[in-house]
Amino acid sequence: MSEEQTIQTPLWVQELDKYKASKPIEDVAADLGLKPEDIIMLVANENPNGMSDKVKEAVSKAVFSLNRYPDADSYHLQKAIAEKYGVPQDWVVIGSGSSELLGLAAQTVLSVGTTAIYPQYSFSLYPMVARLCGAETIEVPATDDYNADLQAMLDAIDSRTRLIFLTNPNNPTGTYLAEDDILQFLDQVPPNVMVLFDEAYVEFLEPALQCDSVEMVRRHPNVMIARTFSKAYGLAGARVGYGIAQPELLSLLNRVRHPFNVNDLSQIAALAALKDQDFVKKTLEVNKEGIKFLTEAFDQLELPYMGLHANFITVRIGSHADEIVDYLLKKGIIVRRMRSYDLPEWVRVTVGTPEQNERFLEVLKEGLNKFGE
Ligand SMILES: *Cc1c(COP(=O)(O)O)cnc(C)c1O
Repeated sequence: MSEEQTIQTPLWVQELDKYKASKPIEDVAADLGLKPEDIIMLVANENPNGMSDKVKEAVSKAVFSLNRYPDADSYHLQKAIAEKYGVPQDWVVIGSGSSELLGLAAQTVLSVGTTAIYPQYSFSLYPMVARLCGAETIEVPATDDYNADLQAMLDAIDSRTRLIFLTNPNNPTGTYLAEDDILQFLDQVPPNVMVLFDEAYVEFLEPALQCDSVEMVRRHPNVMIARTFSKAYGLAGARVGYGIAQPELLSLLNRVRHPFNVNDLSQIAALAALKDQDFVKKTLEVNKEGIKFLTEAFDQLELPYMGLHANFITVRIGSHADEIVDYLLKKGIIVRRMRSYDLPEWVRVTVGTPEQNERFLEVLKEGLNKFGE
């Protein structure tokens, strides 16, 4: 077949791999000879407490209006978020997960011949969405304590740079950045470079360590913060995230965004979730307890771990990490390998319910005894 007769894609599409998602939980369970309810998912930083009862109520009421298109801008949710943060409504954009917003940010500012910068040990989607725009990506080595090296990131900026990704607290390291350091960093980023400040886990950061990111947006027209309902609010399946930025930036981003990008039930679910801060509070308590329980056990086992500022712990279980993860999997416990981050001895485990944490620890100990050095 000649070239003209086959479908042609740009080089950057040819070079990309499909995102490797895990199999449906029913299939995983069937493969292991277990029941789906016996599987303990500690792999995707989802909320182990389920979701708010208020969300269940609101969604069940709304389910019979699916014949109508949703609001194109997620009006009510947008308004509620604007009120919560004290910004005008046109400073808020709602996305189908904050993942969509990361992609929209990339499409808004990147093209062939430009670059995007992100720190080592960060969310795998950053380079993906940037390369999809034909841009080049620059991964800046982290500091010795696995945090973003802000000075090195500034040094990496050149005339081709259009986008910088920064995450606080960070996934997969659980580290956080101090407000003063972020402010200094933002002051030095050229105003024509967009900064996507990803706060997917911000609710889990101790209040005293949280920075006033909305104030950063007020000061810097090139900054957009991205947050999500997937983690603390327990709505990963609904796919809702939100961005806050000045309207000039959002008016560009909204040209790229599809109208009706967030479905009706998800808009309703997120609005109900936002109003149930008690659920979030309970989530934070369960998480804090879980971190205490797990780190005490890791200390006893002399397993080093990274930052504790989110709803997961990245822990070094040794050179037999792969076998131990396989062993956990066989017992129905799914955690995240860190090999793709060049950290083959580490795993990332989402903090679960007390029962899940205990079960994880029990099987981890078995695995360490079986395969440990
Ligand atoms: C989970 C996560 C998100 C949020 O993803 P959604 O698309 O909102 O589900 C964003 N950034 C990071 C770093 C994450 O870990």
